[in-house]
Amino acid sequence: MAYEALYTRGRPKTLSQLIGQEHISNALARAISSNRLSHAYLLIGTRGTGKTSTARLLAKAMNCDKIHEAQAAGQSLDKREIPCNKCDSCRNFDSSPDNVEFDAASNRSVEDVTRLLSTAYLAPLRARVKTFIIDEVHMLSFEAVNSILKLIEEPPPNVAFFLATTEINKVPMTIRSRCQVLNFRLIPQPIIANYLLTLARRLKVTLHEDAAKKIARLAEGSMRDALTYLDQCYAMADTEITLDDVNETLGLISDESLDDIINAVKSQDRAAVGSAITNAFRSGLAASAVAEALITHLRDIEFDMLNRNERNFAELDRMIDALRKATGEMNGSGIPDIILEMTLMKLVAPVQNFVMPTPIISSTPQSTPITSSMPQPAQIPQPIENLDAGKKIFYDVLSSLSSEDRTVAQKAVVMSFNGESMTLAFKSRFMAEMFNGIQPAFERSAEQIVGRPIKISAIFDGKVTSPILNTLPEPERSNLAGAMDIFKATDATKIND
Ligand SMILES: [Zn+2]
Repeated sequence: MAYEALYTRGRPKTLSQLIGQEHISNALARAISSNRLSHAYLLIGTRGTGKTSTARLLAKAMNCDKIHEAQAAGQSLDKREIPCNKCDSCRNFDSSPDNVEFDAASNRSVEDVTRLLSTAYLAPLRARVKTFIIDEVHMLSFEAVNSILKLIEEPPPNVAFFLATTEINKVPMTIRSRCQVLNFRLIPQPIIANYLLTLARRLKVTLHEDAAKKIARLAEGSMRDALTYLDQCYAMADTEITLDDVNETLGLISDESLDDIINAVKSQDRAAVGSAITNAFRSGLAASAVAEALITHLRDIEFDMLNRNERNFAELDRMIDALRKATGEMNGSGIPDIILEMTLMKLVAPVQNFVMPTPIISSTPQSTPITSSMPQPAQIPQPIENLDAGKKIFYDVLSSLSSEDRTVAQKAVVMSFNGESMTLAFKSRFMAEMFNGIQPAFERSAEQIVGRPIKISAIFDGKVTSPILNTLPEPERSNLAGAMDIFKATDATKIND
């Protein structure tokens, strides 16, 4: 037997199974018991909150033999009996020609929609009531909306409409005012998590509670999304689904990795921030996904604090604000990872009272000068390395540049800084040449930030793999430096020859 998705299996069979929308299921059960159903419903709510499922339950209930018998006898009905799912009408509902369903967001032609709607004027073939379930009704063409409006205003006998939408503001007021409106709420996380645990028990799968909570959090109020996520984990799992399984299957960053980043920022440790963000990127996640996960995680921490009656959110709010801003900047940007990296680095307090570093090693990078105006590596004075201070200045300058200038400058990797001059390396010769044009602006900004002139040199270095290397943690950074030293030694031999 073909595998049936949990979303399909988890779909409510009766009003009592409509999770998280009790205000709607109770009202509908009363309306059905007293035979006061409307012929036009507008179901409003975000995706996956149960709009289409409810429309189907209602369409089925309107034709259910058992319900009609109960209504005729004046008996009240329990939510578990709506619909009965046993009578001929209920059992044949899925293949009934009298239930027409379509999604207005799909690429149906105007003629197609008009033809479907015109069948409303024909008597139902077998059912008592012919039902139309139209998803994303706000996407319908003007002509189609007018046809529906006419049908709702002067309904043919035995026709019912269920119009679902995620964007009520795009539905004409003329439609809204003629329908019975059902407002679907976002389903609270604990309710989703509990439902997932119940479903897992039914499937004889051990779903860990923290795993269920993580899926529920991810679903953001949508039961359909939650079931789809659980389905993906279920397909990969044997008989047990842990939090790690959820993270791995859904390609999520672990809470530990997020905590590492947040704690590094809190403890104002630039090196730790660099190392934590590099680790996060290693999991293969897009920068925007990392940023969103950080925001969600910070919000969860705030909720936990609130539950413990702690109110000191200033630090967390500062992080959330900066990350939100960064998320906006990342949209459509070609360098989202750099934006996130910069944002986190800037959250660490600026280095106060810059101290001239003590000499460590000479590690002038090997490079190819772009133009004769560019300094040869040999002209750089004996460098006294303080790469961290250099990067700090680099990031501060970046954020002060115009967005066009920044697009160029942020492709650079800080290769050396000795307090007076900074060498930036570009992987692309073209970008290094582009930098020539903005070098004066960069130097001006650096002078303003540091309080004295800083000479900026740009070099082309095809060996620079990515600006993200800037943040490489130890021991990788040392390894890279070592590799560069070896490279330099080889070149030096050549020069001596
Ligand atoms: Zn029935």
